[in-house]
Parts: sequence; structure tokens; C-alpha cells
Amino acid sequence: PVRVRFAPSPTGPLHIGGVRTALFNYLFAKKHNGTFYLRIEDTDQNRFVPGAEEYIMEALEWLGIAPSETIGKNEKFGPYRQSERKHLYKQYADQLIASGNAYYAFDTTESLDFHRKQHEEQGKTFIYNWHNREKLDTSLVISNEETEKRIVAGEAYVIRFKTPVNEILELKDIIRGDIKFDTNLLDDKVLFKSDGMPTYHLANIVDDHLMETSHVIRGEEWLPSLPLHYLLYRSFGWDAPEFAHLPLILKPIGNGKLSKRDGDKMGFPVFPLEWKTDEGISSGYRENGFFPEAVVNFLALLGWNDGTDQELFSLEELAEKFDLNRVHKAGAKFDPEKNKWFNHQYLQKQSDESLAEAFEKNVIEKNGKCDFSFVEMTKITSLIKERANFVSEFWDLADYFFVAPKSYDEKAAKNWKEETPGLMQQLITVLTSIDDFTSVTIETIVKDWMTQNEIGMGKVMQPFRLSLVGALKGPHLFDIVELIGKEETIKRLEKAIA
Ligand code: GLU
Repeated sequence: PVRVRFAPSPTGPLHIGGVRTALFNYLFAKKHNGTFYLRIEDTDQNRFVPGAEEYIMEALEWLGIAPSETIGKNEKFGPYRQSERKHLYKQYADQLIASGNAYYAFDTTESLDFHRKQHEEQGKTFIYNWHNREKLDTSLVISNEETEKRIVAGEAYVIRFKTPVNEILELKDIIRGDIKFDTNLLDDKVLFKSDGMPTYHLANIVDDHLMETSHVIRGEEWLPSLPLHYLLYRSFGWDAPEFAHLPLILKPIGNGKLSKRDGDKMGFPVFPLEWKTDEGISSGYRENGFFPEAVVNFLALLGWNDGTDQELFSLEELAEKFDLNRVHKAGAKFDPEKNKWFNHQYLQKQSDESLAEAFEKNVIEKNGKCDFSFVEMTKITSLIKERANFVSEFWDLADYFFVAPKSYDEKAAKNWKEETPGLMQQLITVLTSIDDFTSVTIETIVKDWMTQNEIGMGKVMQPFRLSLVGALKGPHLFDIVELIGKEETIKRLEKAIA
């Protein structure tokens, strides 16, 4: 059965790249009737950030892609927090020592730095492995008894993986196809530290095995770890899961990986939810008025498409169509403008009622009050939403419904002719006589009056709109008139001709 996981380290807010990884795992599980679980990889306690775990859960929840198995939920393979599995890992490190696939090392940071620097000065890369260390420093080659003694004496050690030499690994990645790795170029990575904590590599492999992970779908930055991970499975004698490394998400402009700085510079969030620290607030898609469906949709298309031109997909549709074989190798450019377009599309799909509810809150914030009934707010919403990407734009698109214009657009005011005040005065008389003050009736009566008196449309309609709106913009004029109401309409006309 398909079992996939999202395994973030709680080192801060989830970056949009991490969210995409979670989404692709979610979609893959859904597509194959499998399980998507969340595991928190918090073995590196120096990098632990309080609140990050809650943030991750909340973000996935908001996006509608929550795991079906995690902390506090269906804990079949729990605990799902690696810090709570601490006791588990040592035996696996020991197992590798016993089978000759790992060794104790006592190098100090100083000595490692020294060797690294020496190599750099000679223009060489420092590869630390079982074979090189003998060449580097013969004192590193110590007997088992001596090793035992130093451990007992409390000397700090690490357990390193003993990478085999002279092997070309031919590994498979679902997205990248076959990839070759030369084991002579690999470092002997640390698996376990004397503080009793495993490193990412060991904990990750042990847990993926114990939690019966069938596919590892993760970011491209983990591709260099693939040979080590594969070798770990082999050394344990376990079947390795299948691997798929997702392409990078690239900057909107220029080259390289999308960073928080790109977002700050160009004014878009790189986090799903807002993240507050003492240094300030990083904005989130949710707080910026994005609909979760829109975020899911644009993330799904970062590196994947269904082979057609279709761009709008619901989560269900994505789960149905998603295919790892259709994920691209090349990096995917992040396009903040396009993301707004997605939000625009999803805004149009929302009910007018739900939008009106949010809009009403905005109006009260901006205007101190909202005199319109909910039904009227819903109507206003339906008139303006087509022009908006976000609910937060409603106020600027519709402020004239709530407050009379304080000034008139200069260019439009040029159409204000000598005859205009007289015409507006007549219009006031016509409007005053109307009892059924609804859009269609008002339109019929005003147009009849114009026809009967042979008054050109533009001569009335433009100054009329200008008087009510302050500019020549907005939806159908008579819809505005109905909503503003008779009294206010006449008041604005009188003010305009005064
Ligand atoms: N803890 C790793 C991370 O933070 C997990 C990488 C993986 O999926 O293997 O991304």
C-alpha cells in the first residue's frame, strides 16, 4: 500500500516549497488510496523553534491537506515526533557498528576544520571517509579496545557511516530517472552523536522503515543524500522506498532558488500563514486574502501539469489527475502575478454571501459603520467582485456606495458643460417622482424622459455617474442608484450642481 510522509524539521515557518512537497505527497496518497502522514523531525535541538510544529499543522489544515495520521491522530506508527523516539535509534547505530557499516570517530571540530582548510588551500575538496582518514592522521586509526576506553572515559564521539569504496551506485528516481553516484566522492556522514541523538540521516531512514513508507517524495535539495540513504537501507538489509525529488522553485526574476528576500522585495508572501517573531512579522498567504484553494492550485502547477492547458483544478480533481511521472525535472518559476490571477478566479467562485460577510467587516474597519443591510451588501458584492483579485480590494472599488465623493475626477469633469446643471436639476425632478425605486424602473423612466425631450444619453449619464461616483467608473449606473437610494442620490446631485 502507498504510504507517504511529509517530514519537516520544525525550524521555523513552513516555506512555500515545503508546502508544495506536502501537497504532492497528499495528492499522491489520495490518488493511490494510500496514507499521507506527518512526522516531525526534531532531532536537531539547536535548531528547534517553538511554535513551528503548530504552525505546520495549522498551515496544512488551512490548505485542506491535513495528514490522516500524525501526532494525536490515528497514531498507528507513533510517536510521530522524533524527539519522542530517541530511545529507538541507538540500537540501529549499534547494529551498523556490529555489521562493520559504521564506526566511532573522535575527531575534534578543530582537527576537522584544519583538514578542511588545508584541502581548500590546495584547491581540493575535503572528503572525509574511512579511507582518507587513515591518510590524514594515523592517530585516527585506533583499536577497538582503545575506542571502548575512550567512550567509557566520556570522550565525545560520533558514529559515522562507513561508505564503501570503488562502487558506482545506479539509483532510480521517479522524476529524474537513473542517476549514478560514485561512492568515492561521498563523505562518511555522522549518524549518531554522543549526546544520545541520532542525526537526520539515521532517524529519517529508521523511521521511514518503521513507519512503512513506500515512497519518499521530497525537495531536490535532498538528492545529494540519496546515495547515503540507499546505502543505509542496504546495510540494514531493508527494502528501500521509491524516491522522487521535486524540482526547485525558482525566483520570479533572475536565477536561483526562491527566497524570502524575493518576496520582501517584490511584495509577496513566501509563507502560507503569517509568522511573528521579535524581529517582525512575515506575511502569509492567508492573511493576504488568498483562498486556500487558490494557493493549492498554483502550488500544484509548480513543476506539474496534466498534459493539457487546464489551469484551474479543485483539490479533488488534482488528486484524481496527479501523476509523479508528469512532474518536471527543471525548476519551476514562481510567478506572483499569476498567483493573483488564480485568486481572482477563486474569488469569482465564492458565494456572494460569504464575500459580503468579509466585505462588511472591511467596511466597518474603514468607515466605522455599515448602513447597508446584508442583502444590499450581497448585491454590491455581486456588482464589483469581477474587478477584484482580493476581498481587500472591494473597498477601493466600492467606497462611493458608502461615502459621497469628496472630489471629482478632473478629466471626467471636463464633460461638465454649461447646460449640465440644468439637466441635473430636471433629473432630480424626474427621480423625485419615482415611487418604485428599483434599477429597472428608474432606468426606464429616466430613459423615457431623455427620449421624449430629445436629450442625448451622454449628456445625462456621464455627469450623473460623476455626481454619484466621483469618476467615470463602476458597474451599471442604475444598479448604483438603486442601492444608494433616492434620498442620497438626490443629495449627491444637488451637491454636484451647487
Ligand atoms: N526533515 C527533512 C526536512 O526538513 C526531511 C527530508 C526528507 O523528506 O527526507 O525537509
